Amino acid sequence: MSTSLLYHGFGVRGYRYVRTDYVEGEVWFSMEQPREAMCCPICDSAEVTRRGEEWRTFRTLPLGSKRVTLTLPVARVECAVCGVVRQVSIAFADPRRTYTKSFARYALELSRHMTIRDVADHLGVGWDLIKEIQKADLQRRFKKVPLKKLRQLAIDEISIGKQQRYLTVVLDLKSGAVVFVGEGKGSQALEPFWKRLRRSRAKIQAVAMDMSPAYIKAVSEYLPKAQIVFDHFHVIKLFNEKLSDLRRELFREATDQRQKDVLKGSLWLLLKNPEHLDRQRHEPERLKRALKLNAPLATAYYLKEDLRQLWEQPNWRAARKFLTSWCARATASGIRILQKFADTLRKHARGILNYFKFPISTGPLEGTNNKIRTMQRQAYGFRDPEFFKLKIYAIHETRFELVG
Ligand SMILES: [Zn+2]
Repeated sequence: MSTSLLYHGFGVRGYRYVRTDYVEGEVWFSMEQPREAMCCPICDSAEVTRRGEEWRTFRTLPLGSKRVTLTLPVARVECAVCGVVRQVSIAFADPRRTYTKSFARYALELSRHMTIRDVADHLGVGWDLIKEIQKADLQRRFKKVPLKKLRQLAIDEISIGKQQRYLTVVLDLKSGAVVFVGEGKGSQALEPFWKRLRRSRAKIQAVAMDMSPAYIKAVSEYLPKAQIVFDHFHVIKLFNEKLSDLRRELFREATDQRQKDVLKGSLWLLLKNPEHLDRQRHEPERLKRALKLNAPLATAYYLKEDLRQLWEQPNWRAARKFLTSWCARATASGIRILQKFADTLRKHARGILNYFKFPISTGPLEGTNNKIRTMQRQAYGFRDPEFFKLKIYAIHETRFELVG
């Protein structure tokens, strides 16, 4: 071991190697800082007087499977220029840390391929220390996500955990990166985001979202120039909810037991896309029977199948025509639930048809939300909500989610 190896092997520069000890299978390198290298940590002046010292130890890179600790007396100095008495700064470690910068870099490198638990076990440190290293890195990288270049966004909320905790997530549709994670749902969750977005002077063109009044109000207020695009999966999902309501209503009103039985098993089939019906389980036939027995249900079902064609239209003009005709048919059906749904679509027509100007959706957020849920399930250590939120910002960097 030598001063030169300290530098080349461990990135420690400006310190003198003193000796090596082997303590219970660990390697301890003692070193010292030359008097002439000491300066004031505040003003950098070399005119300092030594005022005692403190022995400190730092975990650093392992040698093979052996843990390595650096130990040295860290001097306190009094500065002749600014007058303060302080411990001199350590070049190879961040303030108040018990590990070197190279150790942190190595732990982060391993974290790309291993869980927190794996990295901790491998390096022979506690889970908390690796988490702390990851958290510091995430904070540095994601505390201030640059928003200036954002053009197209997707906003959606996600419920996580058993306590139905909500998070509102904003995605940059161009890069696929999460640019904001808000606590809760609705307009309040997004307040801090609008403030930062305004300060960034980003020119937002379009926002994909569901038809929730809170989002509509917020976007119209804070981004008056942006086009709202209602996500088509959310529109279909909403229609599916109406379809379930209708089936429930018909079931309640049915007097015939056979009709009740057929209706009872039909919900799943009604909500399934027809191309996914299982022939081996006779699902197409069972669906047909349910529809045959019930005219209103059949009307609603075929209207749903039709509605999906809206987003297949070649252009805005054709889509507008299609939407108008669909709404007219729904209204003419005489079925109250469908009539109300047609009203909803008419009211939101502009945002629905905007899809043909900006073909965006909240679809990419769906993938992110799935990753968040997986992370939540695996992460017994995510009792630290800030760490969890920071991990979400980094989620698009990971192909496989490694936590725990
Ligand atoms: Zn000073």
